[in-house]
Amino acid sequence: MTAIYPGSFDPITLGHLNIIRRASKIFDRLYVCVLVNSDKNTLFTRNERVELITRCVSRFGNVVVEMSDDLGVSYAREKNASVIIKGLRAVSDFDREFQIALANKKIDDGIETLFMAAGEKYTYLSSTVVKEMANYGADITEFVPVEILEDVLAKVRQNKAGQNA
Ligand code: ADP
Repeated sequence: MTAIYPGSFDPITLGHLNIIRRASKIFDRLYVCVLVNSDKNTLFTRNERVELITRCVSRFGNVVVEMSDDLGVSYAREKNASVIIKGLRAVSDFDREFQIALANKKIDDGIETLFMAAGEKYTYLSSTVVKEMANYGADITEFVPVEILEDVLAKVRQNKAGQNA
């Protein structure tokens, strides 16, 4: 069975990677999909995000990383996936995700949204927290995969230099 795991991943965190690892054990194939998120001003371009995620998931043989301009359900259909994986951290995620899941069900009844509880260690973790911490020079080694740590630090430095110029 095939699933997709959509999101912004700006950047991928250890919380995302925890979900990817667990989902990759349940499904034969998992597509991690970087979607367009119009409300978010992103740190990394979509190409960069795809590259960063690809680096982190190379050890999982059944995970493919792509980007899409489509809605999650359309992308799922395109990939012959019957499941959309969502990670749930707290009650605050639930409202929004539940709404999206119901809307998706209306669009395509053949695709199920499956919620996975965040790993215990990662319930507080979001890409926004990572960016905020990195911006203030805090240590983010426990938040992002080691494979991308330098990229995040360099990008934040580069942004700061741009702002101060
Ligand atoms: P965010 O910017 O909030 O980190 P994304 O759009 O990148 O969110 O998240 C993609 C998916 O991963 C969503 O289903 C989101 O709920 C989930 N997710 C985000 N962070 C975590 C985490 N720390 N643990 C589990 N799931 C997470």
